[in-house]
Amino acid sequence: MPTLKSSVTISDGHIARKRFGQNFLHDPRVIARIIQAIDPKPGDRIVEIGPGQAALTAPLIAKAGHIHAIEIDRDLAARLRKRFTASELAITEQDVLRTSFSALADQLGGPLRIVGNLPYNISSPILFHLLDSAEQVVDQHLMLQKEVVDRLVAGHGSKIYGRLSVMLQARYQMARCLTVPPGAFMPAPKVDSAVIRMVPLPVTAVKVCDWPIFAAVVALAFTQRRKMLRKSLAAYAAMLDWDALDIARTQRAEELSVDHFVGLANAVASLPLERRQGVEPRFS
Ligand code: SAM
Repeated sequence: MPTLKSSVTISDGHIARKRFGQNFLHDPRVIARIIQAIDPKPGDRIVEIGPGQAALTAPLIAKAGHIHAIEIDRDLAARLRKRFTASELAITEQDVLRTSFSALADQLGGPLRIVGNLPYNISSPILFHLLDSAEQVVDQHLMLQKEVVDRLVAGHGSKIYGRLSVMLQARYQMARCLTVPPGAFMPAPKVDSAVIRMVPLPVTAVKVCDWPIFAAVVALAFTQRRKMLRKSLAAYAAMLDWDALDIARTQRAEELSVDHFVGLANAVASLPLERRQGVEPRFS
């Protein structure tokens, strides 16, 4: 398996493209465990992000009969079209960040099950992009860097609790399914990986009133995570009833629970428009 200078590896005649985060799964035991965690059933509307060389695609099709996939790499998409029939696999040749999952759910006639061994270079933007369509999703099983999964499930008070934890815990119930060592991939990444299961909370359990404001408040609070919240949110400090929000004078972003963040952002959202200037929506 020759490795070229720009760290691309030739695998099965395909040149793994680093810019597309191509680390292909090849360990059959790991693949079997991921499929077991997903538990695909005939009739599921499965959408795979980045099918690559079909390590997950083939067993998903074997169990579900038909799946939909989004692949940016034209060469891989062409190979997949040769290998599977149109009734087994529908491929959208597109950047996942430009894909409307809500439109796809409408097209496929109901909520989606999202699956993917994600390109690690854009995994956070993909997670934030998927947030927009959470109402049209049954569940998401995603392979990410282990470090990202650790951050996603971290609780307040932990050193790795941050923007990603708060934003995603406000919308999904999340659990780690398995950790995966670098040797399960070709080429092997430099880091450990993990699969996470994300199930959107029922709409009635989602308490965020205004997502752009929530995103902005969380981003602002974690820009200086060690700073006291009343200082990092100084522009609003005087206008908010911090006691009613149950937030102590000295509390820092990393100490605040997700529910407290939601309460805080909802309070900012309820301020008159001109008084919350400077809270810029942020999603990437
Ligand atoms: N699913 C395969 C596996 O497990 O072996 C491949 C996983 S590989 C880590 C990531 C896959 O996502 C590659 O097939 C890559 O071409 C594709 N990809 C990268 N960026 C993408 C993007 N922006 N939109 C859609 N697919 C993308």
